[in-house]
Amino acid sequence: MNNLSVSKLPRRIEGLSELAYNLWWSWHIEARQLFRALDTPLWKATGHNPVKMLQQIASHRLVAASQDPLFLKKYDSVMSEFKDMMSGGDTWFNTKYPHLAQHTIAYFSLEFAIHNSLPLYAGGLGVLAGDYCKESSDLGLPMVAVGFMYPQGYFHQHISADGWQKEVYEQLNFSEAPISPVLTAEGQPMIVEVPLDMRSVRVTIWQANVGRVKLYLLDTDVEGNSPSERKLSARLYAGDQDIRLQQQIIIGIGGVRVLRALGIEPVIWHANEGYNAFMTLERIRELVVKGLSFSEAAEKVRATTVFTIHTLVLGVNDTFSSDLIEKYFHRYWGSLRLDKDTFLELGKRGSDNSAFNMTALGLRMADYRNGVSQLHAGLCRRTCNSIWPDTEEKEVPISSVTNGVHVPTWVAPQAASLYEEYLSHDWLKRRDVPTLWEKVPDIPNEKIWAMRQWLKHKLISSVKERARKRWAEDHVAPEQALAMGALLDMEVLTIAFCRRFTAYKRASLILNDVCRLKQLLRSEFRPVQIIFAGKAHPDDESGKLLIQEVYNAAKNPEFGGRIAFVEDYDMHMARYLVHGADVWLNTPRPLHEASGTSGQKAALNGVLHLSVLDGWWCEGYNGKNGWAIHSDSEMSDSADQDRADAEELYRLLEDKVIPLYYDRDINGVPHGWIQVIKESIRSNAPLFSAQRMAKEYTEQMYVPAAQASQAIQTEASQ
Ligand SMILES: *Cc1c(COP(=O)(O)O)cnc(C)c1O
Repeated sequence: MNNLSVSKLPRRIEGLSELAYNLWWSWHIEARQLFRALDTPLWKATGHNPVKMLQQIASHRLVAASQDPLFLKKYDSVMSEFKDMMSGGDTWFNTKYPHLAQHTIAYFSLEFAIHNSLPLYAGGLGVLAGDYCKESSDLGLPMVAVGFMYPQGYFHQHISADGWQKEVYEQLNFSEAPISPVLTAEGQPMIVEVPLDMRSVRVTIWQANVGRVKLYLLDTDVEGNSPSERKLSARLYAGDQDIRLQQQIIIGIGGVRVLRALGIEPVIWHANEGYNAFMTLERIRELVVKGLSFSEAAEKVRATTVFTIHTLVLGVNDTFSSDLIEKYFHRYWGSLRLDKDTFLELGKRGSDNSAFNMTALGLRMADYRNGVSQLHAGLCRRTCNSIWPDTEEKEVPISSVTNGVHVPTWVAPQAASLYEEYLSHDWLKRRDVPTLWEKVPDIPNEKIWAMRQWLKHKLISSVKERARKRWAEDHVAPEQALAMGALLDMEVLTIAFCRRFTAYKRASLILNDVCRLKQLLRSEFRPVQIIFAGKAHPDDESGKLLIQEVYNAAKNPEFGGRIAFVEDYDMHMARYLVHGADVWLNTPRPLHEASGTSGQKAALNGVLHLSVLDGWWCEGYNGKNGWAIHSDSEMSDSADQDRADAEELYRLLEDKVIPLYYDRDINGVPHGWIQVIKESIRSNAPLFSAQRMAKEYTEQMYVPAAQASQAIQTEASQ
C-alpha cells in the first residue's frame, strides 16, 4: 500500500514499515526511541522522519537490529501496543457510546500539523487540528479528517543581516512523506471531479494515518488539469481571493465528494473554521437531487453539522465579493433550487449585500456552533448577532469549547516520568481528571527543579547549536550569530515569546520602554534574557517589520546579548521552547486572542505563564498559577493601551517574577518559584488538555447530532 521498499526490511522487523506510515509513532516515546535506536545520526539528519530514514538507512544496520535481543524486545513491545491500538478495543468512546461506534465524524480543516515530516500548517489552527486528530484517535472517536496536500505549503524562515524575513520554500518530496496515494480497485490513483466555474477540476487523494484516524488530503496536481488548476493546492493561504475561493470550493464541495467516492458515509460533519463551510451546500445539493426542497434539506444538514469559529470577527479573509461568488456558483445555486439572491443571503453579514462571508454561512448551516474559549464565544455572540437579529445577545446560539493541547505530543519525557512516578502509572490515560493532578504537590521540589534545569539546558544548547551552525556553515555575520542566541546563559531567567508575528500579538510590547528593559536585562545580579521566535505571513508587511524590530534589538550590544531571535519556529523548535523556558510571555491586544494554545503546552511542563488576560488564560489564571496583565480593552488609543500594558508587564517582572525566581535556598533551589510551578501544573494540565476538549465536543455536539440524525432517519422511514 505504501511506497517504501519493504523488501529491504528483514522479516523479523518488517512491521517498522507500517509503523513509519502511521504518525502514531510521533506521540509514543518508545516508538520514537525505536527509530532513533536504528541510527541516531540519520534520525537527526532526516528531521525525525522514519519514512525517509528507512529509505536511506544502510541494510547492515537493519540486519543488526533484527538480531539484537534488546532491540527486538522493544520492537515487540511497541508493535503489540500499536496492534492493540489499531484493533480498536476498549476506548473511551466505544465504552461510553457503543451504539454510536459506526457514526463516522468527518472533520474538515485547511491546516493540519501532525508532525514536521508532514508540514501542512501555518500556525495555531493547524496545531489544534493535528492535536485534535491525535486525541480523537486516543479516545477512539470514529473520525476521518479531510484537508489539503500542499507540496509547497511550508516555508523555512531565514532572517537577513538587516532583520528582514526571507521565505525559503521547500518542495515537499511526497515519496519521503508519511502518505500513500489512495487507489481504485484497479490500482489506479482515485480521481474525483469537482465543479469549478464552467469546468471541472480533477482531484487525487493521499492518505495519512494518525493512529486510528485516517486523514485524506486533496491534491489538484493531476494530469488533465490546467497549469493553474494543478497549482491550486500548492500552497496554503496563497494568492488572491479568486484562488482562495477556488481552494475553499475544492475542500468544501470536493471534500464531500471525496468521502463519497471512498464509500465513507459520515453521520456528523465538523467544519473547523469558515473555510470549509461549502461542505454544507454540497450535502444540501445531494438531498435536493433526491427530491427534497432546499429548506427541508438544509434542516437535515444543519442537524448534523458542527461549526467551530477560531477567528474573532466576521473577517475580510473569509469574505468574497458577490461577483466572485457569482462566477463560481451561477450554475450551482440552481442545483440547490435557489436563485442568486437567496443564495447570496446565505453568506450575508449585517446589511452588506455585496459580500459573501464564510463564517456567516457556517453559522447559518450548523446547529452546533462554538467559539474556542468562553471569552471568545461571548465575543462571537456579540459580533455575530446580526445573523440572529431578533435574538438577544446572550441568547445567540454559539457555545464554547475551550481549546486544549494533546498531552503526549507536548509533554517533555522528563516531566512525563515525574508524573508517572508521582501521579499514577496510568496518568496519561486519565490526563483530563483534575483529582489525578492533585498529587502534583507531592513531587519533591528538588525533582521539579532538576527537571526544569535539564529542559532549560536542552533548549539553550539547541539554540546555541543552531547559531553555531549558521555561523560555521552559512557564514552569517558575527552580530547575526549573537542575535541568534550565542550569548544565552543557562543561569539567567529566560522569557520566551514564540508565536506568529502579526500586529495584534504585539511581539514588541516588551520593547516599549527601552531604558527600563535594558536595566532588567543587564542587571548584574538578577538578569533576564528573552528568546523570540515566530514567522510572519509572507504577505504581512507589518509582521515582518515587527520581526525586524526585535531582531535589531537582538543585534544591539546595548541589550547585552540578552535578546535572541530563533529562526524558523516550527513544531520541532516549539517543543524545545515550551519545555525549556522559565516564563511564557503572551501579550496580545486584549480580546484578540481567541484562545491561544502555546501557553497551555508550556504550563504542562512547568513553564510559568505571564499573559494578558485574554483567550484561555481568563479561564486558567487563578491568582496563584502564573501572572496576568489586566489590560483595559475599552481604551480607544492603541498607543496608550500599549504603554499601559507594558507598564504593568515591567511592574510584574520587577516586583514579582524576577525576585521570586532568584530567591534561592542554600542549594540554589527557588522554592517559592516551584510552588507556582506546581500550582500551574495542577490547575492547568487537566483543564487545557485536548482530552477534555474532545470529550466536550463529543458530549455537547456529536452525541446530540447523532441523536438528531437518528430521529431524522426514523421519521423518514415512517
Ligand atoms: C502551539 C503552536 C502555535 C499556536 O500558538 P499560539 O499560542 O496559539 O499563538 C503556533 N505554532 C506552533 C509551531 C505551535 O506549536
